[in-house]
Amino acid sequence: MTLTPTDKQIILDSIRDIPDFPKPGIIFKDISTLLSNPKALDTLMTHLEKRYKNYDLDFIAGIDARGFIFGSILADRLGIGFVPVRKKGKLPYTTVAEKYTLEYGFDEVEIHIDAFSYEREAEEPSKVLLIDDLIATGGTAKAAANLIDKVGAHCVEVCFIMELAFLNGRQGFNAPVYSVLVEE
Ligand code: AMP
Repeated sequence: MTLTPTDKQIILDSIRDIPDFPKPGIIFKDISTLLSNPKALDTLMTHLEKRYKNYDLDFIAGIDARGFIFGSILADRLGIGFVPVRKKGKLPYTTVAEKYTLEYGFDEVEIHIDAFSYEREAEEPSKVLLIDDLIATGGTAKAAANLIDKVGAHCVEVCFIMELAFLNGRQGFNAPVYSVLVEE
């Protein structure tokens, strides 16, 4: 299900570039202006709903924090459950964690050990779509995709609203990667 050039432009125009945030040299893609624009948000979510309605998904997993927003809307539209992948120390029940490297040091994401068990028997792994707003180096999303595997589910695809392709973040996933908008 491809987006028309007009629809793509509506979504692209709704995302604001903030130069030098959070530090000099970074152009921050501000999706708050997409969220506050009902036409752009509906165009995006309708596109994702059409793309994923025949994937027979069991859950959407969203990455802390902007992935929660798009993931929850999509899960609701598809009539399936939503699972948060959180930064370390936020989830209250037993968790599984995965570290990933940053420019300096490392960070860690976590998921509940039983995240994909709602109303499911154990015969087949749950089919999960992982979603976040943006892929830069891909470290966060790869760690999140590994967590989905670690708790016994199957990551069917990884979806981003925007990809910064010059950072080559899409290399090395063990699932297909789909980005609505790609900045070369
Ligand atoms: P990465 O692990 O390098 O792919 O970083 C991805 C995470 O950092 C995502 O959760 C994004 O929301 C955030 N992020 C990284 N770079 C940017 C950027 N230029 N604009 C907005 N968010 C960004």
